[in-house]
Amino acid sequence: MFDYAIIGGGIVGLATAEALSRRNGNTKIVVFEKESETACHQTGRNSGVIHSGIYYKPGSFKARFAREGSRSMVEFCREHGIKHEVCGKVIVATREVELPQLEKLYQRGLENGLSVTKLTTEQVREIEPHVRCLAGLKVTATGIVAYREVCAKYAELVRQRGGVVMLGTRVTQVSEVKGMHRIETTRGGFEARFLINCAGLHSDRMAKLAGLQPQARIVPFRGEYYELVPAKRHLVKSLIYPVPNPDFPFLGVHFTRMIDGTVHAGPNAVLAFKREGYHKTDFSARDTWETLTYGGFWKLARKNMGEGLMEVRRSFSKALFVHSLQQLIPEVQTDDVVPTHAGVRAQALLPDGGLVDDFLFVEGRNTVHVCNAPSPAATASLEIAKAVVARLPDLRAATTVAVTR
Ligand SMILES: Cc1cc2nc3c(=O)[nH]c(=O)nc-3n(C[C@H](O)[C@H](O)[C@H](O)COP(=O)(O)OP(=O)(O)OC[C@H]3O[C@@H](n4cnc5c(N)ncnc54)[C@H](O)[C@@H]3O)c2cc1C
Repeated sequence: MFDYAIIGGGIVGLATAEALSRRNGNTKIVVFEKESETACHQTGRNSGVIHSGIYYKPGSFKARFAREGSRSMVEFCREHGIKHEVCGKVIVATREVELPQLEKLYQRGLENGLSVTKLTTEQVREIEPHVRCLAGLKVTATGIVAYREVCAKYAELVRQRGGVVMLGTRVTQVSEVKGMHRIETTRGGFEARFLINCAGLHSDRMAKLAGLQPQARIVPFRGEYYELVPAKRHLVKSLIYPVPNPDFPFLGVHFTRMIDGTVHAGPNAVLAFKREGYHKTDFSARDTWETLTYGGFWKLARKNMGEGLMEVRRSFSKALFVHSLQQLIPEVQTDDVVPTHAGVRAQALLPDGGLVDDFLFVEGRNTVHVCNAPSPAATASLEIAKAVVARLPDLRAATTVAVTR
């Protein structure tokens, strides 16, 4: 019998397990992960950016947890010898119409307590010599890391403190028996006093299994990346972002130097016909049916029809993708980029077609569900974990053992 059972061995589930085991070394914890490795889905397929929090609404979880999380993530990496770099990033306006939005971002950065500097074209080019723009911002706190490595360290710490990370173990049923959760998995049944749902792309389904009626449904959006060929990596020094479209929840295709030295360009945002569908042809009848029969999806589609169709065209046309990249770096040519990985974002969508913008935690009877943890949840994982743990009693309080990281 476990004190806490966590569904999901992505960065949110593992950070939560790490925080619970640090709070009390006597706690009995299990993490169920259906794949044979941790961080196989969103966490292992993202841009690897430690976000500063410039984009998010002041006072929101995202703004607070990104600001604090970028610091705690860097501290964690330093403490555990995980390769990372606080390289900063530039956000650049390439058209006159983007200048007011750039100014708004600057003000937002200040409101969120960040170190942000306005840059002229020349100043941008001192940092990123190949960029063409009208003006820019420099955000110093942004960094890069491989989140798979962060996850491997979280899992190692959990195991060192006696926790169990069960790989290849899919949760299939949850019921309540005499105040305990009975959790059926592909590797047998287990009991736990508290259940924490960190199932990412499947978090709405896991919430339903546990008896909750989640208001929002997860709709998957694939993000495809290209990679600069080695001979062209010099075109990007660190991170180059466009001014995001304020009506769209994603950041726009950008250049990211990864911690292994490769340079990625992307991601776009197209509706995926499978929750874990990383290829254009991946299809799941169940996932597609659930999306297409959801009124919220059609309301969102009607509002964003133009942008959505453009994303689909760009997904199928390398020339269009390269055209978007050329807005930032005109020198980039079609032969300079090759397709690389893709990730799928778990985005919670409300019945009225509104996207759940902030991180969303829902509490049930002896359960906490992380119902929306999109970007920057990897950056913010230590802070999200703190917020989840604060919602859970310390079941071994009488036998507290102080555990250092
Ligand atoms: C393309 C892309 C780019 C991004 N870029 C960034 C970035 O640069 N910086 C940043 O901070 N964030 C970024 N994000 C967001 C970030 O990656 C996610 O917010 C974060 O990884 C979410 O973590 P998670 O643990 O909630 O989900 P996941 O990593 O998806 O983990 C959920 C886990 O639950 C498991 N699971 C599901 N159902 C079950 C079940 N029934 N039984 C057992 N296990 C189950 C899954 O196998 C999975 O491993 C990006 C996301 C994407 C997709």
